Amino acid sequence: MHSSMVGKVEKAMRYAHESDRVKIGRLDASFTGDNGSHTVSLDADQWHCDCHLFESAGGCSHTLAMQKILDSMLSDAAKETPLYGHVEVGVSA
Ligand SMILES: [Zn+2]
Repeated sequence: MHSSMVGKVEKAMRYAHESDRVKIGRLDASFTGDNGSHTVSLDADQWHCDCHLFESAGGCSHTLAMQKILDSMLSDAAKETPLYGHVEVGVSA
């Protein structure tokens, strides 16, 4: 391997442990839930899922799980979910 490439690979290895360097802008994913597979997507900080809960609540266990998995790689806007509001209300009540 060319010596300048060695430096690039070493940098990549360091970067790979610093996931907050990465901000995901757009994403399409297949999510295998307990009751079937769902298509979860992120575009312009807006999540979408094809499950019924998402339709009514604007968030679901699938989008919330994706937010947890990708946390450090999401913009502040993409970290927001209506489900957190429901959870916090449940805890304080
Ligand atoms: Zn869902």
